Amino acid sequence: MTPGRPVPPPLALHIPLAEDVAGELRPGPAVDGIDDPRQGRLAAARGAVSSDGGLVPLTVARRAPKPDDVEIAIEFCGLCHSDVHATRGEWGTQNYPLVPGHEIVGRVSRVGSDVDDFAPGDLVGVGCMVDSCRECESCLDGLEQYCERGLTGTYGAKDARNGDSMTQGGYASSVVVDRRYVLRVPENLDPAAAAPLLCAGITTFSPLRHFGVEEGDVVGVVGLGGLGHMAVKLAKAMGAEVKVFTTSESKVTAALELGADSVILSRDADAMATANRSIDLIIDTVAAPHDLNPFFRTLRRDGALFQLGLPSEAMPPVNPGALIRRRIAYAGSLIGGIAETQEMLDFCAEHGVVSDIEIVGADQLNDAYDRMVAGSVKYRFVLDTTTLQAPAERADA
Ligand SMILES: [Zn+2]
Ligand SMILES: [Zn+2]
Repeated sequence: MTPGRPVPPPLALHIPLAEDVAGELRPGPAVDGIDDPRQGRLAAARGAVSSDGGLVPLTVARRAPKPDDVEIAIEFCGLCHSDVHATRGEWGTQNYPLVPGHEIVGRVSRVGSDVDDFAPGDLVGVGCMVDSCRECESCLDGLEQYCERGLTGTYGAKDARNGDSMTQGGYASSVVVDRRYVLRVPENLDPAAAAPLLCAGITTFSPLRHFGVEEGDVVGVVGLGGLGHMAVKLAKAMGAEVKVFTTSESKVTAALELGADSVILSRDADAMATANRSIDLIIDTVAAPHDLNPFFRTLRRDGALFQLGLPSEAMPPVNPGALIRRRIAYAGSLIGGIAETQEMLDFCAEHGVVSDIEIVGADQLNDAYDRMVAGSVKYRFVLDTTTLQAPAERADA
């Protein structure tokens, strides 16, 4: 390589699109200056090409906006634990290359001919899904996350309405998404700190709303990571008293700083006994196997425990007696529907709720992943996508 000479980025790959979409694509110099609505764009991105290679520079071909599409110039994308699992192939067979990212915030750059609810310049977001069947009972109820034919994930999913191409996520300079799955981000929210609302925020908001949490309720939050810290903030904003359960004494101060009213060390049997029958709803965000029975004992009659983390190994068995004697519900919950996600964003704007974040550049992503696995982040990393395009750096890499 000749020093200083412009060269293609190392490991840059063109991601082929299926025939019918590729027909609309005319690869050109990256992002700016495309006025022809029939042209797609090449987006600078970071993604994985194998399970053990980390994240590397990639180029993603984005389709030209179809009549219902919104093209978004991405500004920020949150880093979710799912991104780590997916890019490292920890959730079974994974197709590569894979650009992760489903906490996307940016501005509309172009819209398709039938889009009248979004215009260039609008601040928008995209969460964990970019499509669903739109016909099943769940979709018609606005609960697209429970689509009976399976939602289309923002990355790593087969995109049935776009020639079965694989969706590629938000660690990229742009993305094109059907208007039905695009959220409006209120302008008074900090766009970087709002990004994690699109996954961590809605995942905790949805069960709080489903349970009907209101002033006077007592909400317990198990685990204080990306999800847990959002659960604390949202439950407080809904007027609840919040008790945080944690195994680590080091998190007590942090929980109180986030707004928790009290902290219970879950390994302390006496502390757990003191909390007996004191809580209406528990949001459990821990993804590692753990015994739920001690938590059921802290619930009041007609209380509920929502489990949001998905452990890869079996959990200790639930004691039915703990549920029966107080008519306790043990439930799960998956992200939220599009309408509910919009409601959550508007709620956050009204109450000034955003995520606590640390902004990282593209070259810090691999370190950030290691720190996420080690639990060393308060509480969410967010990628600044302006750092994706650095030709000089790449030429020297
Ligand atoms: Zn996520
Ligand atoms: Zn459906």
